[in-house]
Amino acid sequence: MGDYDQIVVMSIKSAFFEYVSNNHQQYSVNEIIEKLTFVMKKELSVEQAVFLPIHDMLTYVSPYMKSNYGPIHFIPHDFIEGECYVNGEQVFIPVFHDNVLHGLIELNELEANHYSDKVLDEIAKACSSFYSHCFNSVQRTRNEHKFEQLYHLTDKLHSIMNKEDVLTELMTILQKKFYGYHFHLFLSQDHENLRNIPIKNLDFDHQTGNELAMEAYVTGNAQLIKKKKKNQTKLYTPLIGKQGVYGVLQVIANESLELGDHNESFITMLANAAGKALENAQLYEQSKRLIKDLQLINETTHRLNKNLRLADTMNYMVQSIMNSFDADEVGFFYLAPNHSVHIFPGSTSFFHKDEAKVYIEYVQGKIEKDLEGLFIGDITNFLKNASFSSVMAVPMVQSENFKGCALVLHKTPYHFSFDMFKLLQSLIHHSTLALTNSLLREELETLVKTDHLTQLYSRKYFTSFIENSMKMDRQGTFVLIDIDNFKMINDTFGHQIGDDILVQVANIIKSNIRENDIGARWGGEELAIYLPQVDLHVGITVADRIVKRVKENTNPTITISCGVSYWNTVMKESFKQLFSRADKALYMAKNEGKNQVMVQV
Ligand code: GH3
Ligand code: MG
Ligand code: MG
Repeated sequence: MGDYDQIVVMSIKSAFFEYVSNNHQQYSVNEIIEKLTFVMKKELSVEQAVFLPIHDMLTYVSPYMKSNYGPIHFIPHDFIEGECYVNGEQVFIPVFHDNVLHGLIELNELEANHYSDKVLDEIAKACSSFYSHCFNSVQRTRNEHKFEQLYHLTDKLHSIMNKEDVLTELMTILQKKFYGYHFHLFLSQDHENLRNIPIKNLDFDHQTGNELAMEAYVTGNAQLIKKKKKNQTKLYTPLIGKQGVYGVLQVIANESLELGDHNESFITMLANAAGKALENAQLYEQSKRLIKDLQLINETTHRLNKNLRLADTMNYMVQSIMNSFDADEVGFFYLAPNHSVHIFPGSTSFFHKDEAKVYIEYVQGKIEKDLEGLFIGDITNFLKNASFSSVMAVPMVQSENFKGCALVLHKTPYHFSFDMFKLLQSLIHHSTLALTNSLLREELETLVKTDHLTQLYSRKYFTSFIENSMKMDRQGTFVLIDIDNFKMINDTFGHQIGDDILVQVANIIKSNIRENDIGARWGGEELAIYLPQVDLHVGITVADRIVKRVKENTNPTITISCGVSYWNTVMKESFKQLFSRADKALYMAKNEGKNQVMVQV
């Protein structure tokens, strides 16, 4: 290499070096090419230096070749990095990046014989190395920018907590950023609320020509297809979350538009981000629903545990189910020990009608066998003429025994979702114990509150009623009743008739006292009446009337004796004292010949 050659190579290199070291700003590919050709022109003193970019085309027709020598086709792999192609006064310097030919610098009217091959190759090496350095920098900046954008977009997508909004935002971003491209979404789930987004159905029918969308959906891998004839590129990229694929994004680039690797990866990454955001939104919606469900269950069990009256609790439960499930009718029934069906209080009035029996019988028949709930979209398939189509039924099971059932109905077929059914199951599951307890408790309460034979109040209830009245009221009259010669009645007619006599007397008592008064079985053949807020005079009249009615209206005829006592606030008396005086009075009545009323004041 001569001195002159050395100087040329040096000045080219230093021109490149100067550019690279001074230019801290971001390059563009055009700027690099401009600089390349400018340096060539200046340092090699040529008239023309043109950069011929090589895409993925296999041949290139040089405009100069065309004018001067006619079209000549170059094949890129004819070129070797660091070696110039010399053709008379024309020199082509190949520009490589990462072993790929990016372009040719075409120099015209170069006095090629001034430069040795070695120098030209040296220059070619310098060009590639300069280009490659700058090109890397361009790519880095581009990537940086791309990731920054992607970061912001992803951030935005993830801040949206609603599926529809995520999809709308995704499409808006894409259409804005890739103007001229066509975007469609293939979704696997229903999408009624998305009227402004171009959506196609993802169906498994192979006739639709969307096999690639399906492929992307099933495999989770993006699918790319280039149609040479139509000059069209289609990309199918899945919207992937951690738990599954939510849909597929279709990108169509027509004619002059190229998708390019970097766009493809950008879109794919954005689609991935959208998939994750969709999943988040879905999980958020699910958790919101779950929280609401848990709230309902929690509130219901809370109420059940508060030991409210069964009717109040049931009212609340029925109303909650009506609201949560948008149901037409809600009812609970339970099986009494004799297997007859009872409707819980609080059930909607429909369940007290004969119409409800068909549903109850159908459900009971199915459920009693396997103790599983029933979720029926359209019961008219099984029950002709049924006016309610959607049926959910969940059994109340305790110690593996069928206790009863909740029944939820709606006129429209397929009205309830499976999620609702699961919620109902959970709700009933959590409430069964409290409900059956509450039911038992009320049954027990009436058992002890009323005397089984006479249906008068029990002594316990009666006593606490009087004790309470003596605290709250100002006066009251107490009447102790004993059947005369009852032993003889029993002995003469038998216990059965004796019992019947007791019932007859109890009924006479009931029909001769007012609503506020209270009649009780004191024990054995002794009965009692308490008249709150009633003075002694009226109390005696009531007792006299009952004595008279018993004698007139019993069969076999019997009589009773009554002892009456009275209290008011001035007397400051206890119930014990009140009773004791009535007992004394009764003793007196017996002594005076029975069938009469005596008073002990
Ligand atoms: P007096 O009225 O004069 O006191 O005589 P009495 O025979 O009615 O009184 P006594 O205390 O001697 O007998 C009460 C009888 O009432 C004894 C018992 O067999 C009968 N008795 C108590 N409870 C019942 C009951 O639930 N059913 C029947 N059939 N008899 C009963
Ligand atoms: Mg007695
Ligand atoms: Mg007696």
